[in-house]
Amino acid sequence: MGRVNNHSAAGVTALGWDVWNIRRDFPILKQKIHGKPLIYLDNAATAQKPHQVIEAVNRFYLEDCSNIHRGVHTLSERATKAYENAREKVRQFINAKSNKEIIFVRGATEAINLVAQAFGRTTVGAMDEIVLSSMEHHSNIVPWQMLCEEKGAHLRVIPMNEEGDLNLDKVNLPFNERTKLVALTHVSNAIGTINPIRKVIEAAHLRNIPVLIDGAQSAPHFRVDVQQLGCDFYVFSGHKLYGPTGVGVLYGKQSLLERMPPYQGGGDMIRSVTFEKTVFNELPYKFEAGTPNISGVTGLGAAIDYVHSVGLEQIEPYERSLTQYALEQLATYPWIRLIGRPRERVSVISFVVDGIHPHDVGTILDQEGIAIRTGHHCAQPVMEHFGLSATCRLSLAFYNTREEIDALVGALKKAREVFSNDGA
Ligand SMILES: *Cc1c(COP(=O)(O)O)cnc(C)c1O
Repeated sequence: MGRVNNHSAAGVTALGWDVWNIRRDFPILKQKIHGKPLIYLDNAATAQKPHQVIEAVNRFYLEDCSNIHRGVHTLSERATKAYENAREKVRQFINAKSNKEIIFVRGATEAINLVAQAFGRTTVGAMDEIVLSSMEHHSNIVPWQMLCEEKGAHLRVIPMNEEGDLNLDKVNLPFNERTKLVALTHVSNAIGTINPIRKVIEAAHLRNIPVLIDGAQSAPHFRVDVQQLGCDFYVFSGHKLYGPTGVGVLYGKQSLLERMPPYQGGGDMIRSVTFEKTVFNELPYKFEAGTPNISGVTGLGAAIDYVHSVGLEQIEPYERSLTQYALEQLATYPWIRLIGRPRERVSVISFVVDGIHPHDVGTILDQEGIAIRTGHHCAQPVMEHFGLSATCRLSLAFYNTREEIDALVGALKKAREVFSNDGA
């Protein structure tokens, strides 16, 4: 408790949020980098893992390690149960109708590739169109480009304005009778914009166009209800949701998944195989060929339990107030330029420092123990839109604090001094 009181001004909000207590769940945060306490502000690239997740993965290998859906022995039954329990946790987490709609994959990237292959290759033909936005992650551009290349189809792009919001007037929604799919990010990983995806989904559905939502940056920050949103596909990665790397989720409406051919062939995705004919397994196994990432899926289940125990309804306002604080602090200095001012955003902030290349900023901050991301953030079209080749990006999680933002600003001031002395 002494610890809590020492930090009461910043750590415990009016909501009763105790960030110092939460930080104890994340062993990595105790580390020193270059002799300074680690300040981890690169959560949009990957979030840190609480010991509950690390232990769940450990426990799988220590006690339950076995293949799933095969053996009748006890370990296999335990492993299968843990794997399928995690599927139910994911179903509840995004409020899907059925477990058959939850496919485990390697990450958001593989989920999008799965849809591009299994849905795209059977649905998209020559001269057809796929609609994206100008703020997509490369993972939600390149698979569609590859499909278009193969099929002679085209990409259409919803533009964004100077603030970093999509232009969603009727004129800017490039839907027509040739549009076969809309693939749109829920939240921009580069500038933090929350897109009004319901509006796009409704407009697309008026024309019977299915919509894929890239939820890699929304699932970690606020409650997502796929039935309420009405999206046809929703994808996210476990590792950005405090879970292990190498595991992610594709949600798809059952009717669409039923109609799609398998993505990969192998074990587990079949019911029977002869050299003449193979009968495919039912959903969701049809799309899960081979031994999956069992420990990763188990860890993702533990991550979802952890997020529930903290509470998204607590996480959201805390992250919002922390983001507001960071924006105010950064805006104090005329030599820091914030990139994008979206109407609605998550805790992802891009900026540039006058006269210092983002990579140099990142290197100097690292010397202070501060981890931010610098570069194009796998979103080169966003950088191009703002006339930049790179930015600095800080991305906050619910274990970050105001003190850490103060330290970031202090380190930026120091960097600025070093560089202006050099120039003089
Ligand atoms: C990180 C990210 C992806 C890709 O996720 P992986 O885990 O690398 O597969 C896709 N879209 C967005 C918006 C992202 O932030």
